[in-house]
Amino acid sequence: MSRTLAEVAVEAADCTKCRLAEGRTQVVFGVGNADADVMFIGEAPGFHEDKQGEPFVGAAGQLLTRMLGEVVGLAREDVFICNVLKCRPPGNRDPQEDEIESCTPWLVEQVSLIQPRVIVTLGNFATKFVLQTAQGITRMRGRAYPWHDRTVVPTFHPAAILRGGGESSRQFLEFRDDFELVRETLAALNREPEPVTVPEAMTSEPASEPVIVPEAEPAPEEQLELF
Ligand code: URA
Repeated sequence: MSRTLAEVAVEAADCTKCRLAEGRTQVVFGVGNADADVMFIGEAPGFHEDKQGEPFVGAAGQLLTRMLGEVVGLAREDVFICNVLKCRPPGNRDPQEDEIESCTPWLVEQVSLIQPRVIVTLGNFATKFVLQTAQGITRMRGRAYPWHDRTVVPTFHPAAILRGGGESSRQFLEFRDDFELVRETLAALNREPEPVTVPEAMTSEPASEPVIVPEAEPAPEEQLELF
């Protein structure tokens, strides 16, 4: 019998599978509805997230929460929010490959248990990792990708929007459009019968196969192993 998400979170709280355990305040497992239709995946906890134990609690998180409410019509509590890495890399440096490898089983279990119908990848790192592509977020965003009986909608990282000119920027309008796409994708799915999903399939199918990415052949050296 599979574990509950709460049981997995308790186990993850003591994780020492990589060096990030040494510098963290706490594991930032993820927050939200264990039965969510929508899951947001960011890169890794930052300073505030590490202190508070919750993903996306800083300014970027506030923007995410606002878009979710204004455009998708959902509250933070309705969705599940997490990161590829569950612990803060020192100084917010980029995640390293062995850290990603150690942490991936937590994300796999989260997706398997929550069974979100739509996954929103926030920013370059999460998008490249989940969709196994070398293409950057600017190329990838703006469309929905079929992925293991689910739909992935990549968009900019909200921190990038805040850094890049805020609400008057073109990026912000595109970010908003992507949330519109999430809303439309959910509405379309709700008009269809629930698919029969097999979580085990995640471990046996190559993640890149069902992804429709024109000219998006990943460069082998940049390809990360996911499921
Ligand atoms: N950036 C992320 O990618 N995740 C967080 O939780 C916070 C900032």
